[in-house]
Amino acid sequence: MDPRIDRVADRIAAAERVVVLTGAGMSAESGVPTFRDSGRDPGGLWDRFDADEIGTAGGLLGFLISKPWEGIEFLKDLRDVFAAAQPHAGHIALTELQRAGRLDAIVTQNVDGLHQQAGSERIIELHGTFARRRCVLCGLREAVDRASLLDAFDRMIVKLGSYMVAHPAHLLDRCVCGGLFRPDFVAFGEAVQDLDAAVEAARSAEVMIVCGTSGVVYPAATLPGEARGAGAFLVEVNPDDTELSAVAHERLRGTAAGVLPGLAARVRQRLASVV
Ligand code: NAD
Ligand code: ZN
Repeated sequence: MDPRIDRVADRIAAAERVVVLTGAGMSAESGVPTFRDSGRDPGGLWDRFDADEIGTAGGLLGFLISKPWEGIEFLKDLRDVFAAAQPHAGHIALTELQRAGRLDAIVTQNVDGLHQQAGSERIIELHGTFARRRCVLCGLREAVDRASLLDAFDRMIVKLGSYMVAHPAHLLDRCVCGGLFRPDFVAFGEAVQDLDAAVEAARSAEVMIVCGTSGVVYPAATLPGEARGAGAFLVEVNPDDTELSAVAHERLRGTAAGVLPGLAARVRQRLASVV
């Protein structure tokens, strides 16, 4: 068995505060495609659609209005991703670590709500979530369950297909104040959410596990450095080298679903043996 897993399990079992930072790779095995390793998913969503073009809120709406047929294809694909995504063994392993008292917080860049679905708590969603919508006028935020999200996609798809959409406003639902609702995720160029809480979690961590992030999206990519600077032991879980590999104390080369369950099991063994 890999001695590195044992070393990391020792650290986690002994630590008061463990924090996990997750990125798109955490959800890859749930069928949610990542942005930056499209080689793993040839022909996948981000192979066919340019994340840089449609990653901004204005870019996305402009794309939908100006290229409705491509827009429909994109929305259908995204709808299918959300319809099918379920937490995998790696998400569940984090929930188990938390229930064993060995995971303080999860800071995630993901917008898919899979950590919540797996039963984890104390989740800081830096890039917001599709499980909520926000009025762009009055700021009202409302939870959106999976069925309502899929319904919103379906209604947008029907409207785009009916040639009735001359303006982005026609695609979106309205708040009681008259403003437009948009999904409460953070698009490219927008300010992240809950950054103070994320930085505080990073600085207070004794161990930080960084899983499935390429480390090129800021300010999320500064968090491992914040943690390490404050004395944390830094662990990377990723099948590939990333921008963050050089600052990690331990690199576990594997996938989230491949590595995290074994790691959590080892931590539980250690906790059981000290009782
Ligand atoms: P990224 O797409 O830039 O990089 C993905 C990383 O995950 C890579 O380092 C890759 O090697 C690694 N990876 C791939 N498969 C993995 C697996 N099975 N297990 C572990 N690691 C794996 O991801 P990022 O750094 O999170 O940046 C992408 C940005 O786009 C984020 O801001 C995020 O908000 C957004 N995004 C979110 C989702 C989602 O919500 N699931 C999906 C795509 C993009
Ligand atoms: Zn409003």
